[in-house]
Amino acid sequence: MKKNMSLTRFLIRTFKDYYKKNAAVLPKVSNFPKREFAFLLWDKSVMFRHMGFENIDTLNDYLINSAPKHVYSSGSLYAHPEIPDMDKKGYEGCDLIIDIDVDHFYTPCKDDHDGWYCNSCFKRGKGMPPACPECGSLKLKRISWICEKCLNIAKKEVIKILYDSLIPDFGIDETSVMIAFSGHRGYHLKIEDDIFRELSSDARREIVDYLTGDNLNFEILGLKTRSGIVYGLSQNSIGWAKKLNKEIEYLLNQPDLDIEHFLLDIGLKKNQINSFLNQKDIFLERFTNSELNDWSIEGFDINKWKIFLKGISERVGAKIDEPVSIDIHRLIRYPGTLHGKTGFKVQELSLQELEDFNPLDAADKSHDPIVFDQQDIDINLEIVEEFVPASKIKGFTYGPYNKGDNITVPKHIAVYLLCKEVAKPLTIF
Ligand SMILES: [Zn+2]
Ligand SMILES: [Zn+2]
Repeated sequence: MKKNMSLTRFLIRTFKDYYKKNAAVLPKVSNFPKREFAFLLWDKSVMFRHMGFENIDTLNDYLINSAPKHVYSSGSLYAHPEIPDMDKKGYEGCDLIIDIDVDHFYTPCKDDHDGWYCNSCFKRGKGMPPACPECGSLKLKRISWICEKCLNIAKKEVIKILYDSLIPDFGIDETSVMIAFSGHRGYHLKIEDDIFRELSSDARREIVDYLTGDNLNFEILGLKTRSGIVYGLSQNSIGWAKKLNKEIEYLLNQPDLDIEHFLLDIGLKKNQINSFLNQKDIFLERFTNSELNDWSIEGFDINKWKIFLKGISERVGAKIDEPVSIDIHRLIRYPGTLHGKTGFKVQELSLQELEDFNPLDAADKSHDPIVFDQQDIDINLEIVEEFVPASKIKGFTYGPYNKGDNITVPKHIAVYLLCKEVAKPLTIF
């Protein structure tokens, strides 16, 4: 208990110092006085919601005084953000929020760094099985780790959503797009545009369906049979037909083994797969050079093509946390504040900055989420989690660690491991 007190005190003091030093550069979100704010403090599990701030100075005072573990503001605008009753808040519209977080989709490297530990039989392993493979217990402690590869996949997803959907298909102006690294395992997009602010939850659901490609009707996109010949998706169009055609061309230019894996994954049989692979080159030739749009492949009727296109749409569709975009009362992390699970800063980025941005090794100091980077301050910790995967941060690899390990790490790594709750300080702060 004493150690825990000391740990919390250390993190509160560290966060306070950060907010004091950075008050002058804390970003101010648009329509600031109309946003609802929410905070999670270190010693309480309840979230303080329904707070409003007249100006950035009063917010800074609050951050310096209470150094919260997590800081959020609303995507919505309210006449009275401080009134708890949602009906009396005076709702005036909501920005379109898109959350891209590797917590919500599979990345291959997770099989290496994410793991589990069984509280019943004490077995441990990698990956994310639904139950303990040894004893069947559902009481698994899950360890999901931050990783450069995952974050790069999330970043590519953001770029794809922007350049393949939001900008070309919705005509969104680049200047209305706010991008932020979340401080943990993903990115947020906020579209600040009057047209989007007026949308109902139902309309937002339709946008989400469009972005993810769920419930696509391939016949509407041009797929049809005439006199026993299958004709493919319309060419030279915008929207989903174009996205699917582009991905088909990409896939068919990959090695046969990759294509075979894809066809197996979508549930096709061996003879169908062989037939497809045999005729793939002729098909690709017709696909890229002919306006006939003849998609006939022996053994591939229109239903097979629908299965194929469903699989393609899942490759292309945006991997987003859907409820976040649909719910008009959602809160998102406030830019420039610290994420209590990592001690990393929520970093706003422009579209141009996003391309080369690596949150775990940022080139530009002013855009570095790792704000406690002090190589000269070493801190002694004891690992309290069964196992801690390796972390590659700023070019150095820390870990993997096991329970009971005594380690000495620079301050930013200590803050990170303490926030992740996998270590405790050996020094009394
Ligand atoms: Zn078990
Ligand atoms: Zn990863």
